[in-house]
Amino acid sequence: SNYLETLSQVKTVVYDKTGTLTKGVFEVTAVHHSDMDEQKLLEYAALAECASSHPISKSLQRAYGRPIDRSRVTDVQELSGRGVTAKVDGVSVAAGNSKLMEQLGIPYHDCRSVGTIIHMAVDGRYAGHIVISDVVKPHAKEAIAALHRAGVEKTVMLTGDVKKVADAVASELGVDEVHSDLLPADKVGKVEELLRQQHGKLAFVGDGINDAPVLMRADIGIAMGALGSDAAIEAADIVLMDDAPSKLALAVRLSRRTMKIVWQNVIFALAVKALVLVLGATGDANMWIAVFADVGVLVLAILNAMRALLVPKH
Ligand code: ADP
Ligand code: MG
Repeated sequence: SNYLETLSQVKTVVYDKTGTLTKGVFEVTAVHHSDMDEQKLLEYAALAECASSHPISKSLQRAYGRPIDRSRVTDVQELSGRGVTAKVDGVSVAAGNSKLMEQLGIPYHDCRSVGTIIHMAVDGRYAGHIVISDVVKPHAKEAIAALHRAGVEKTVMLTGDVKKVADAVASELGVDEVHSDLLPADKVGKVEELLRQQHGKLAFVGDGINDAPVLMRADIGIAMGALGSDAAIEAADIVLMDDAPSKLALAVRLSRRTMKIVWQNVIFALAVKALVLVLGATGDANMWIAVFADVGVLVLAILNAMRALLVPKH
C-alpha cells in the first residue's frame, strides 16, 4: 500500500534504455574487421561474453550461432557500463565500448554507422568492431504519451549507450530529456540531481542490468520482470511481469483512483460517525441510525472501493 501511495504522487518518470524502452535484442548489422576474418572476430566476441547476462552479450552469442565451449574461456571480468575482458584459448580479448578501449589504452577507430559499437581488442591490439542495433518495444511511444495523460509531468531517459543512439531513440519515443554515455554510478548521480529539482515523486524504470543502484535510490523503483535480472526484482518496489512499458501508465492511473477512493471513504466514515455522535448527545439518534453509522457506512465504503475495479485498461 505504501508503494501505491507513492506511485499516485509520481511527477517524474526516469527510464533506462536497453531492455526497458528497447527490446534488448540486438541484431548484428555490420562487422568491420582489420586483418582477422569476420567469423573469427565474432567467435572471440561470443566466447569472451559467455559469462555476461547483458542483452548485448546474449545477442553476440546468438549472432555467433554455434554452441559455446566455456572451458576455452578464463579470467572473465565484466566492467559494468563498459564491456568485458577475458582470455579465450589463452589469448586476451576485450569487447566493449570506447570507454573500455580508453581504459585499456588501445587506440580504436570510430565508426560512422548508427548503432551500438562493440570495439574488439585481441592480444592487446585493436581488431575491429561489431555494429549492433536494437529496436524499441512495441507501444513504447504510446506508453510515454499515456503517462503524460495520466498526469506525469516529465519523462527522462538515461543510458550508457552513445549519444547518437540515445538521441535517435528519445526523439522516436517523445521522451522529454535524455542523458547518454553514463556509467552505472553516473545514473545514480543524475537521478539524485532530478530528485532535488522536482516537487512530486520520482519513479525509475529499469531492467536492473547496470541500474540496480538507481532502482534503490529512486522514490519508487520499477523493474522489468521477464528480461530483468534477479538483482532488479530484488531491488525494485514494483515488478512489471510482462515487461510492457504501457503497464506503467495503468499502474499510475490505478494508484491515483485508489488513493481518491481511500480519502473519500475516510472522510465519509468519519463525518457520518461524528454526526451520529452529536445526534446521540442531543438525544436525537435512535438504534437504527446507530446501526447505519456502523454497518451501513462499512457497506457503502466497500461498494465505493469496488469502483477501483472499473479503471479502464487503456
Ligand atoms: P543502458 O543504460 O542503455 O541499459 P548499459 O549501462 O547496460 O546500457 O551499457 C552501456 C554500454 O556499455 C553499452 O551500450 C555497451 O557499449 C557497453 N557494455 C556494457 N556491457 C557490455 C557487455 N557485456 N559487452 C559489451 N559492451 C558492453
Ligand atoms: Mg540497462
